[in-house]
Amino acid sequence: MILRRFIKKYKNTINQSKDKLKIIIKEFNMILVVGGAGYIGSHLNKEISKKGYKTVVFDNLSYGHEEFVKWGTFVQGDLGNIQDIRSVFEKYPIEAVMHFAAFTYVGESVEDPQKYYLNNVKNTLNLLQVMLEKNVKQFIFSSTCATYGNPVEIPITENHPQNPINPYGRGKLMVEQFLNDYNKAYRLEYASLRYFNAAGADPDGEIGESHNPETHLIPLILDVAAGKRDDVKIFGTDYNTPDGTCIRDYIHVTDLADAHILALKYLERGGKSDFFNLGNGNGFSVKEVIETAREITCKNIKAVETERRPGDPPILVGSSLKAREVLKWKPKYDDLSKIIETAWNWHKRL
Ligand code: UDP
Repeated sequence: MILRRFIKKYKNTINQSKDKLKIIIKEFNMILVVGGAGYIGSHLNKEISKKGYKTVVFDNLSYGHEEFVKWGTFVQGDLGNIQDIRSVFEKYPIEAVMHFAAFTYVGESVEDPQKYYLNNVKNTLNLLQVMLEKNVKQFIFSSTCATYGNPVEIPITENHPQNPINPYGRGKLMVEQFLNDYNKAYRLEYASLRYFNAAGADPDGEIGESHNPETHLIPLILDVAAGKRDDVKIFGTDYNTPDGTCIRDYIHVTDLADAHILALKYLERGGKSDFFNLGNGNGFSVKEVIETAREITCKNIKAVETERRPGDPPILVGSSLKAREVLKWKPKYDDLSKIIETAWNWHKRL
């Protein structure tokens, strides 16, 4: 009775304190950015840190760059070693996990599928296992349009059939399916973000795209512009597209980073676990990309027409209506010139 009267009298004060406590907890908690030394992870790490979140970057540096970890706390560790994962959760107050660490060379995944299934699938299960052990239940996953396989309709929506045509895409789809099961069984909440072609660089020029070996179209073109390569190969000119070359949906890496933050906020406010495409919805052919790069760099970029690259669908263009409506995502760099300009600003300094 006395307690009830006390609660009634001090209800407002208690509620205000609860809100303050929530803010304090928020400031104390950290986001684990797995693979945060890589291309997309490092851009997310910058953007989310700017928004006031505290991050712990966990990366084995097999492909990542330590010098890209300019924000938050860095822990070098390997998802293949479950103790490495446990110790990061034991040391830091992790409230949510963003998982970027994966091998991403489609061709290599065909030649060496085990490498891809062990890292992209088994190691992700290790991460999820520790999350469940430590009762961390918010997960943002880097998925891919490669889970769709050859498109049967364009633009590709989230309801498009998923029939991946290579082990890279199959591994990502497997994890998506695990997430669905884990959500039902363990209430793990997730947002799985299916990227189209990530491109561009941090507009401030602090970080950018750097792969070894480089296989992506835009950095290869810019290597030619910078005089580091003689020419860029055009893989196939006989596709059923207006100029015969493949069409892709290029999305700026900072826009991808923003989508991750919005997805996290969506889960924080109790949004339902779901899958979201992230693309601009505009397709550009290989020849158009080369032409735009010539305009931006004012260099005569030599292009050589060659055979098709196995496993390349002619057109991949996504509809991101769902991310725009549900997450309130609005890409800022929705123009190919802007994307290439940021990439060139970074690239020409290398
Ligand atoms: N591409 C090309 N020459 C290259 C690299 C890529 O013509 O040296 C083409 C490739 O066939 C695809 C597009 O450029 O149609 C984008 O390829 P990228 O490897 O950048 O990304 P992906 O679409 O494979 O994720």
